[in-house]
Amino acid sequence: MDISTRILELRDKLNKAGYEYYVLDKPTISDYEYDMLMKELIELEEKYPQYQSDTSPTVKIGGAVLDKFSKVKHTIAMMSLGDIFSLEEVDDFCEKIFKVCSDATFVCELKIDGLSVALRYHEGKLVLASTRGNGLIGEDITNNVKTIKSVPLTIPYEPDLEVRGEIFMPKASLVKLNLERKENNEELFQNCRNAAAGSIRQLDSKVVAKRNLDTFIYYYLGDIDTQYHALERLKELGFKVNKEAKVCKNANEIKEYIKYIETIRDNLPYDIDGVVIKVNEIKYHNLIGYTVKVPKWAIAYKFKPEEAETKLLNVTFQVGRSGVITPVANFNPVFVQGSTISKATLHNEDYLINKDICEGDTIIIHKAGDVIPEVVGVVLEKRLKDAKPIRMIKNCPCCNSQLIRLEGEADYYCQNPNCKERIINSLIHFASKPAYNIENLGEQLVRLFYNEGYLRNISDIFKLADYKDELMALPKLGKKSIDNLLVNIENSKNNTLDRLIFGLGIPNVGSKVAKIICEKFNTIDDIIKASYEDILTINDIGEVIARDFSNYFKDEYNLKLIAELKMLGLRMDYPRMIVRTNSYFSGKRVVLTGTLKNMGRDEAKAKLELLGANVLSSVSKKCDLVICGENAGSKLTKAQELKIKVIYEDEFIKLLEE
Ligand code: NAD
Repeated sequence: MDISTRILELRDKLNKAGYEYYVLDKPTISDYEYDMLMKELIELEEKYPQYQSDTSPTVKIGGAVLDKFSKVKHTIAMMSLGDIFSLEEVDDFCEKIFKVCSDATFVCELKIDGLSVALRYHEGKLVLASTRGNGLIGEDITNNVKTIKSVPLTIPYEPDLEVRGEIFMPKASLVKLNLERKENNEELFQNCRNAAAGSIRQLDSKVVAKRNLDTFIYYYLGDIDTQYHALERLKELGFKVNKEAKVCKNANEIKEYIKYIETIRDNLPYDIDGVVIKVNEIKYHNLIGYTVKVPKWAIAYKFKPEEAETKLLNVTFQVGRSGVITPVANFNPVFVQGSTISKATLHNEDYLINKDICEGDTIIIHKAGDVIPEVVGVVLEKRLKDAKPIRMIKNCPCCNSQLIRLEGEADYYCQNPNCKERIINSLIHFASKPAYNIENLGEQLVRLFYNEGYLRNISDIFKLADYKDELMALPKLGKKSIDNLLVNIENSKNNTLDRLIFGLGIPNVGSKVAKIICEKFNTIDDIIKASYEDILTINDIGEVIARDFSNYFKDEYNLKLIAELKMLGLRMDYPRMIVRTNSYFSGKRVVLTGTLKNMGRDEAKAKLELLGANVLSSVSKKCDLVICGENAGSKLTKAQELKIKVIYEDEFIKLLEE
């Protein structure tokens, strides 16, 4: 491949990865892969300056400014940092600095893996918080940042001041958030950075407040002599400052610091991806200077991702309750980032092909976002001669029926509703904690009862009491455990309807959606009667969910199951909200726009609905009232054009109180 083609290819790959990372918060390649591609491009552009371009990702500060937020022009550009990946490069960096200012010292800080934030204070009050965006223009995230406990809303300092730092999500919060998302069938965040970036860009500050974000502040844009004093000053003003910062006099001290940080990295409660080395004396910063993208007086030493090499034993194919087939790599156990792992998902056919995995390969494993085991790639030099590539299977590994890949989807499905693995997994899901929450009815018992012929569908769970004596005679089960289990099953019948709806395993219906639907249609009879269009009127429900939901309740088999569950005594309703019919809002069609200071959008909507309002998502002639918070955009303009009554937050709160 010639140089110019490779340069274009690298730019394409980096632009695509940048979009997925900065805009979608869903990277498809690892940071290390991205950094290596960027390194190659920088080197090629330096070597062949005729191909340099001012639109290359090497000169652009990554990041995007999303339209859903107001834009903020930065007082001073928010820059990125140059990267180095080896300890020898620390020597090169220091040498370059000493050539310009021979008595410079350095401050080494942890490179927090989050996203940068600029905070502006006026007369001691926080007045603006913004993202880095494209470096010159960022997004106004003031309301969201105000929900972060470590950000002081006031500081003991009157003149205008800007400080900058990093918003991050602690590791424990990511684990908790991902558990909740899993329960709700929502996509998991891959790492702390994506979770922080995705959370801070929520439109609803209430949601942000629940995400448990945190900050470390490291730049003080006021008058100060050294970076180390800047950190001390920030601490005095009440900002949260990382305590690991250290002054180093030369490259050797910096390298010792880096080695030390690598030993404590795993035990830190937040994620770091390196060490930032900054020239300590602020007076030297301008002297050393800047490129268009990064300061030359600072550099980021990036850690290599923690990886382990192991041998692939085989790839098995799991059948999920929806019939989805997931290839899973089973390998010799390896210890990575704090735990021993022996399997990792290979997701789907495209992933298998992209990773080019062959039988008997030596593979590299890491943990995406410290949590999810992932196959990074294959060690090609160690591939066995004539090794066969591993490909997707064509028939279900359980019932042998032919698998189908639907158009536009990456997954293969077993479509046989009687497939044993599908049924077992549906039963496990039904009994699980987030669904019907039947204590003690876990995977082992479900499999045992299925194999012994007691369970074939959900209603069989509630008939187990009829076989009490036989169950007690099963291996490893005695009177006490069966008595307990049967009591738990009986008690579970009082669960509210949303748990049953989630437990049924309707495609795309997680526990949150189940609740939202039950809040609108309080009984199973109303749910069965609801049409696709009725479901679609619910604000948070889109076409796909509405379609899957209404299809489920059109199916004869499913209706028979529900009728049987009803006969078996399961509760079939959800506590009804008592909606007021005599309030100011009763019967009014209302639209909310802008950001409310005192409550999130969901809370405002719930309050309005309790007061009898019908909350719509867009302004039209049919609308009676628009409630307007801060930074309202096109909805307010449209309401004014259509001469629809607009009230502001203060009046809204007053009416609520009345
Ligand atoms: P960066 O993350 O490498 O470094 C700059 C940032 O470091 C600053 O903006 C600041 O927010 C942060 N930082 C953390 N602690 C700091 C401290 N103590 N002092 C100063 N700054 C500190 O650069 P970037 O431009 O934000 O992002 C580029 C990086 O993002 C890439 O190197 C890559 O790792 C990752 N990326 C990954 C993908 C992907 O597809 N996986 C795509 C794009 C970017």
